[in-house]
Amino acid sequence: MRALPIAFVEILVACDAEVANHSTSRATAAVSAPAPGDWQSLNPFPVERGTVPHGQSTPAISPPSARVRRPLATAPEAAGAGTLVLYDDGGTWGWLGELYAIGLGTLASHFGSWTAKPIGQYLAQEMANYQAVIYVGSTFDQPVPTAFLTDVVAGTRPVLWIDDNIWQLVNQYPGFASTYGFVPWEYDTSAVAEVDYKDATLSRYSANGAGIMSYSTVDTARATVLAQARRSDGTTFPWALRGANLTYIGENPLSYVSPNDRYLALCDLLFDLLAPSTTDHHRALVRIEDVSPMTDPAALRAIADYLSSEGVPFSIATIPVYTDPNGYYNDNVPLTVTQAGAPEVASAINYMVSKGGTLVMHGYTHQFSTVADPYDAVTADDFEFYLTHWDADGYLSYDGPVPGDSTAWASGRVTSGLGELMAAGLPRPAIFEFPHYAGTPTDAAAIRTTFATAYHRGLYFSGTLTGQTTDYSRFIGMFVPYVVNDIYGFKLIPENLGYYEPTPDHHNVVWLESDIIGAAQANLVIRDGVASFFFHPTFSVSTLTTIVRGIKAAGYSFVGPASL
Ligand SMILES: [Zn+2]
Repeated sequence: MRALPIAFVEILVACDAEVANHSTSRATAAVSAPAPGDWQSLNPFPVERGTVPHGQSTPAISPPSARVRRPLATAPEAAGAGTLVLYDDGGTWGWLGELYAIGLGTLASHFGSWTAKPIGQYLAQEMANYQAVIYVGSTFDQPVPTAFLTDVVAGTRPVLWIDDNIWQLVNQYPGFASTYGFVPWEYDTSAVAEVDYKDATLSRYSANGAGIMSYSTVDTARATVLAQARRSDGTTFPWALRGANLTYIGENPLSYVSPNDRYLALCDLLFDLLAPSTTDHHRALVRIEDVSPMTDPAALRAIADYLSSEGVPFSIATIPVYTDPNGYYNDNVPLTVTQAGAPEVASAINYMVSKGGTLVMHGYTHQFSTVADPYDAVTADDFEFYLTHWDADGYLSYDGPVPGDSTAWASGRVTSGLGELMAAGLPRPAIFEFPHYAGTPTDAAAIRTTFATAYHRGLYFSGTLTGQTTDYSRFIGMFVPYVVNDIYGFKLIPENLGYYEPTPDHHNVVWLESDIIGAAQANLVIRDGVASFFFHPTFSVSTLTTIVRGIKAAGYSFVGPASL
């Protein structure tokens, strides 16, 4: 099993563009086009190796790792319904706006429908049709239409404004300070590694040089400071604040995201806009990962017995067929085992189901063809629906669709996989999980026709929201702390805490029991969020016990995925 840098960088992909876009000069002084800057692809996911049979040590390899959806059932008509997400699209880094909009729209989908469009296309009084508005400024000084500025200050809808271009509102509206109680000043580029929110200290990638907005005035009689950025010297300044109908976050929390990140504050602040009467409710999920025909059935039974004894429902990520087409772990002799060909494993899986397990289909073979993608073409090690390789620096490169990727190909794998599970006498799963959380929009659409629910992190590409040709070089990977409806149409069950991984490797971050529990504790800031992790059955039940009890002690109740 291989770890990935799950401690860092979960969401996004891009961005020193953020750095390029920001000026440290006084923010209210217009000027400054985005300077060219390098951007680095931040691999969004932990990619873990699965079951390695025969006790062979693993070879050294590394990781890094507009849409209207669910109708808002109870939205009063007079208040509008759903969320309007507005984004920038100008300049060298304009393409980032679509990805940020996908990220914010995905979060907003927890609360109802959402629609996204470039800020320049905003129409006068359009926000009246919505319950709330989110604008993410990601292009420094992209012109914001006066119609939008006018409607913001009219104050009839809650507006969440993220990052750039707030100064255009300040400059347009002389009464800004007296209405909202704060005046943005300039981006503060101090090293900030912590954001205090509610009772928690959330983390922040301190090398993120994009800066956080500072203020020339904060009048706490009118403005509420919602979160504080803490510099390395201990001093603080507002990270997010609210005056009247305007909530402002002084940086983009969709970049450089980790499991304990200040991104969680964003996730929680959305409740204020979209579901303010929500009360605290903390549920947890555990998924037993990479259960293939080669998994030790005794380990599966022991896990089922333990979780059942704790009253903990769980999921079982099942791989219908194990294959090692090059004999990588089998003395160069190809080996393939189906679930039906491993009746003791199938029996153990059925036993797990009887003890509170929910079956999740985790691909068909969890590998692709006979090629390294990226490890060794062996089940549970490799990607199945996406092509990857290790680059020269040991980071995982997400290359694009596998050869032959198509609707028919993806559908065929799902059909074959279900057939194998049926043949083994296993229940038909109703939930799908992409191997290593990656697939193309084509694959997602094909799989969505069979599975309405997915249980993974989202990988979303440029072009998906705008309807343009998919750009596989530009994508956002994201975890969510509550159920959402994603842009592929899946009801998405969250996985947001990562998995137990005690072995350091390349750029990986070791992720222990205490890290998973710590991430669960950080997620308590989300008033109705889940703490969801996964666990490989190759590790001991005592390790699982520590994690489960730690999450329970933090205040969570474990539930099955179908209850969300
Ligand atoms: Zn897997």
